[in-house]
Amino acid sequence: LFIPQDLQAGRPVEADPDQAHYLSRVLRLGAGAPLVLFNGRDGEWDAVVTEIGKNRATLRPETQRRAQVSSPDVWLAFAPVKKTQTDFIVQKATELGVSRLIPILTDRTQSERVRTDRLTATAVEAAEQCERLDVPVVVEPIRLDRLIDTWPTDRMLYLCAEAGDAQPLASAAKPGPAAFVTGPEGGFSQQELDLMRRSPLVQPISLGPRILRAETAAMAALAVWQAVSGD
Ligand code: SAM
Repeated sequence: LFIPQDLQAGRPVEADPDQAHYLSRVLRLGAGAPLVLFNGRDGEWDAVVTEIGKNRATLRPETQRRAQVSSPDVWLAFAPVKKTQTDFIVQKATELGVSRLIPILTDRTQSERVRTDRLTATAVEAAEQCERLDVPVVVEPIRLDRLIDTWPTDRMLYLCAEAGDAQPLASAAKPGPAAFVTGPEGGFSQQELDLMRRSPLVQPISLGPRILRAETAAMAALAVWQAVSGD
């Protein structure tokens, strides 16, 4: 369970009401039940439930099971698609170790209303399920042109480009901080492609000869990255 409070042996922490409801009503845990906690900073802890009610649960961390480990230094900037597929992108990118998720607004982005609180909740659930010890940061949506203007100079941005002469990711990948950018279902506009291709921080890459759906492209990029970087 992700508890964004300091975790120390013997120091009780409170679950939020939704978590308390899940522990008491769904898992039907009572006082004394064991569970495992993490907060993204202090590693993973064996804990016990000390008090539990319908909307309130107090948990006591007892011993640290694992020290904190950092996630791979890879970001994903993605054009949000329909709600279910966007949730899928966030869930699978969390499993594949992404540390930052950046929804981008593009000329053809279909979903202008992006709920970052909901996407963060999806990332928390995915982190709990896959037993990673931190949760990726989901930032507020940003326009693609602004993202490119403010892009950090020490991070390569791999543009997933479905057409043209882009090199395959497996041979283009370089060591160091990385990020991927994937487009919406309608693809990037020509103006956006020109803007990105002009930047020395952007490297176009191919994920093969077939046109992948936006969510498939994001997953394929991260899986290939994991394979070549070993992260
Ligand atoms: N522009 C395409 C069209 O209109 O037919 C469709 C875009 S595709 C569904 C969505 C995004 O997935 C693209 O913008 C690109 O970032 C990524 N993508 C899809 N296939 C890819 C491939 N083979 N290699 C790299 N990126 C790909």
